[in-house]
Amino acid sequence: MKILIINCGSSSFKYSLFEMNNGHAESIFSGVYHNVGDKIVNHAQAAEKAIQALTDPDAGILSSLDEITAVGHRVVHGGEKFVAPAIINAAVLDAIKEYAVLAPLHNPINLEGIKAVQSLLPDIPHVAVFDTAFHQSLAPEVFLYAIPYTYYQDYGIRRYGFHGSSHKYVFGEAASFLNKNSKTFKAIICHLGSGASITAVSGGKVMETSMGFTPLEGLIMGTRSGDLDPSIPFFIARQTGQSLDEIEDILNKKSGILGISGCSNDMRTVLESADNNDMRCQYAVKAYVHRVIKYIGAYVSVLNGVDAIVFTAGIGENSPVIRKTIMDRLSWLGIEIDAALNKKTLCQKAMISQKDSTVKVLVIPTAEELEIANQTFQKIAIRKLKE
Ligand code: ADP
Repeated sequence: MKILIINCGSSSFKYSLFEMNNGHAESIFSGVYHNVGDKIVNHAQAAEKAIQALTDPDAGILSSLDEITAVGHRVVHGGEKFVAPAIINAAVLDAIKEYAVLAPLHNPINLEGIKAVQSLLPDIPHVAVFDTAFHQSLAPEVFLYAIPYTYYQDYGIRRYGFHGSSHKYVFGEAASFLNKNSKTFKAIICHLGSGASITAVSGGKVMETSMGFTPLEGLIMGTRSGDLDPSIPFFIARQTGQSLDEIEDILNKKSGILGISGCSNDMRTVLESADNNDMRCQYAVKAYVHRVIKYIGAYVSVLNGVDAIVFTAGIGENSPVIRKTIMDRLSWLGIEIDAALNKKTLCQKAMISQKDSTVKVLVIPTAEELEIANQTFQKIAIRKLKE
């Protein structure tokens, strides 16, 4: 059985075809168009090109589109309605549209992608897999902001959490890597990419996560500020006369590692300049690491102890120096890093703590699209059973 996964960003269109073997997805073909809105006019055109590529007689992999059983779509915001994947119908499309107010940069694009691919593959189930769904286990005391309750009731202002498919996948992989029962396993998952979030998971349930109402809260990211005193935007507005839109743009696109370093949003460049004594790059790296350590400390308390700390995504998978700097400050947890293993672990599954370390430290490469394929498969399997 083959499942097609679609992941639309503001200017990109990613697609992957998965073969399901005994309920496990394996990627057999994938592609990405980066310049949607430019050379490729829109997501509908990108979708057409993807379908052409899949069925190309020479370079493609499908002899007929009939070989595709279902399509899974990554959707960023599912609000409070979606705690699991959903078969896309008119009501689901309406809900995704409704939540566009909470994710104006993402949900409308996701919707565009769904409609484009649905019109090319109209006779098979399409499934929406939501980034927010895994975090719907958060308790009210965790997701509520301490502002008048009516803002939650009237406008849905609460913490939602993002990167859900990544955190879910990495938690499951970590539990099976360590041979632990995922129903009792406690892990802190550090998804450190250009966007970054950290999640405390106990028995497969998210107890805390660092992104909130939007993906701006929490850790320091490539260009996003993460946590800050809520008074700062008002102060900036009064001092500089900048508009709310301008300040929002600065906090999302000109802050984080880029903001402090003034040099780059890419951790590789900033680490290199820090090594060459660039003071602001040194501050950026130290602030970045400090924020992660602060969150890990808090999340150990939230979980009342932890079995494993797991690194994933671009920085988490590829930067031994960032991992080591974080772990060196967590020796109080009984963590002992295997320095040689940490150094040589790049983008592969590995335990980088010593065997007798009380808390294990793992690197697990994330695979959001594979997780979306597995969830899509499960969703259509459940539907079949009900029929
Ligand atoms: P996205 O959130 O866009 O999916 P990724 O998970 O691919 O991001 O992470 C991208 C980031 O990973 C880059 O911005 C870069 O800073 C970082 N990165 C990749 N390789 C390394 C490395 N070897 N050392 C440090 N950082 C790295």
